[in-house]
Amino acid sequence: MLSWLFPATCELCGESAEQALCPGCLAGLPRIPAPICLHCGAPTAGQQTDPDRCENCAGHPRAFSIARQALRQTEQAMQLIYRFKYHRGIHLARPLAQLLHELWEQTPHLLARQDWVLVPVPVTQGKLYSRGYNQAGELARQLARLRRLRVMELLERRDTGVLSQTRLTATARRLNAMRAYHCRRPAFWERHRRYPSHMVLVDDVFTTGSTARACATQLRKLPGVKEVAVLCLVRIGT
Ligand SMILES: [Zn+2]
Ligand SMILES: [Zn+2]
Repeated sequence: MLSWLFPATCELCGESAEQALCPGCLAGLPRIPAPICLHCGAPTAGQQTDPDRCENCAGHPRAFSIARQALRQTEQAMQLIYRFKYHRGIHLARPLAQLLHELWEQTPHLLARQDWVLVPVPVTQGKLYSRGYNQAGELARQLARLRRLRVMELLERRDTGVLSQTRLTATARRLNAMRAYHCRRPAFWERHRRYPSHMVLVDDVFTTGSTARACATQLRKLPGVKEVAVLCLVRIGT
């Protein structure tokens, strides 16, 4: 009914479409080319996939098992992320989650289990209030629908004294991220006294991986949690 009253147009080409991105534009967004670092998903030169030789991974503790990202940083991809986050682009969550669904299908590590629980990277209460939604939460919800998985909002982001990650240097980001995230104790814990063993952290962008590492570190402190994998929409930089 609603789609009849308000027919959707594709955000990229402007043609009428069933959702906010038409199948042609979705298919045309540049994916991360193989080969990639087997740990963090960075595209690598030659056939080198060893994390110990990856610039992004060397010297960092392995807080998450694997991280994968769907799209390369292109002007179009960034434009979509920008609209999704800052222009009440909540309707983009559904087609963008399809990219994560497709990436999941191409990741044997994720296909090997059925019991993953999706955990969105949280935003501060202030952002939630001004934006009206958490973009990572919306992606996780739409992905959960496509893959028939559960979403648990286990993490919270502190408001006080936390600067926006986008304006910080790599070292400052790492320290800032470690301070920013902590775990909530949901009703689930009160009932079951343990957490799901395998989790997939969901976010819109992956830059240095500091947010993913900070969140995975917190989640792995929870009783019963054995593994945290990471799935993001766009890889920024390398
Ligand atoms: Zn289109
Ligand atoms: Zn790597």
